[in-house]
Amino acid sequence: MKGKVYNYGRQSIDEEDVQAVVDVLRGDWLTQGPMIPAFEKALGSLLGAPHCTVTSNGTASLHLIALGLGWRKTDIVITSPITFVASANCIVYAGATPDFADIDERSYTIDPEKVEERILFHKRNGRTVRAVIGVDYAGHPCDWEALAALAGKYDLQLVNDHCHAIGSSYGGDPHFAARYADAVNISFHPVKHITTGEGGAIVTRHEWLDEKVKLLRNHGLTKDPAQMGSHDGPWYYEMIDLGYNYRITDFQCALGIRQLAKLDRFVERRKMIAAEYDRAFAGDFRVRIPEVKEGCLHSYHLYPARVQFKKLGLTRSQLFEALKSRGIVGQVHYIPIHLQPYYRKLLGTKAGDYPVGEQFYEEEISLPCYPTLESAEVGFIVNSIREVLVTA
Ligand SMILES: *Cc1c(COP(=O)(O)O)cnc(C)c1O
Repeated sequence: MKGKVYNYGRQSIDEEDVQAVVDVLRGDWLTQGPMIPAFEKALGSLLGAPHCTVTSNGTASLHLIALGLGWRKTDIVITSPITFVASANCIVYAGATPDFADIDERSYTIDPEKVEERILFHKRNGRTVRAVIGVDYAGHPCDWEALAALAGKYDLQLVNDHCHAIGSSYGGDPHFAARYADAVNISFHPVKHITTGEGGAIVTRHEWLDEKVKLLRNHGLTKDPAQMGSHDGPWYYEMIDLGYNYRITDFQCALGIRQLAKLDRFVERRKMIAAEYDRAFAGDFRVRIPEVKEGCLHSYHLYPARVQFKKLGLTRSQLFEALKSRGIVGQVHYIPIHLQPYYRKLLGTKAGDYPVGEQFYEEEISLPCYPTLESAEVGFIVNSIREVLVTA
């Protein structure tokens, strides 16, 4: 363990993965080839949904979802303040207005009661909330039953920013994401459950949405005679919407297919690591372990521990420095989005607006959690944290 560096997350790549990529590199199709639909098919069946579009990254997926769902200037879209900035940025990309609803104290996911408060607030001001982006934070599903009830009551679209949570389940259902949400996005960044280097996907039960995001992924170009105004010959295509190049390559998808086959093992290992941290810190007033709500299966993209810094007379910077000297690189997920300078300026948000999320931010540190982390290494990390807390 000496000399090794432990980040909060990292990829697990084996020789089989390397070979799968090399095989594609030696073939005819580096991009726009057969690996794309093959990966899409595998992801669709993982999430139990008929449609999937793979993209260049999870942020591109969110952008395409925002455009595909037709968000525009007069729309408000609500998300959690405790998520990666991309969850909110996609709303701005589409020209709509983001708003936030505070998190639930137990699951750290968006609180449906707070969502309803925001909807009613905007209603009183004559504005419409069009959609909610729930984030299955750290791998813990949102309260999708309650969000679906709100969607029915107020005619909302639901998006699941599912980047942390493939491999999780809700009410015993591993296919909950695409069942509750109109669109689900996934990322294959190296810290996520499975990786393609950079990469993302959109999974949906709606055929119309899938057609739209596939068109926009490729510049808004079509060769489908049914969609074109004229047909000049075999070379002919038409640009029928303003799209982007958000494609992913075939060699990345070949890696994704191999990685996907190992997802169950990866998630099992993450759950074992989480259980080791749970056992180490359960009943220790200094470190609050993440809860798992009844009926939920947590897939632990992150292990968000809450350290009671105030009670300990220790600062988070002191803990970070002490751990870093032992090779343990903590990370905080996340700095509340409404406190980012860009959003303060855009929306006029400020400290105190979302107190549950802000308090969470004050205490959170994500402990290393990834499949290749060994039990002895988890023990070393636990002991290191205890040593620092004891001397505090
Ligand atoms: C990783 C992540 C994204 C963005 O994915 P990229 O592939 O890095 O663009 C969006 N939302 C959440 C919650 C994420 O964790």
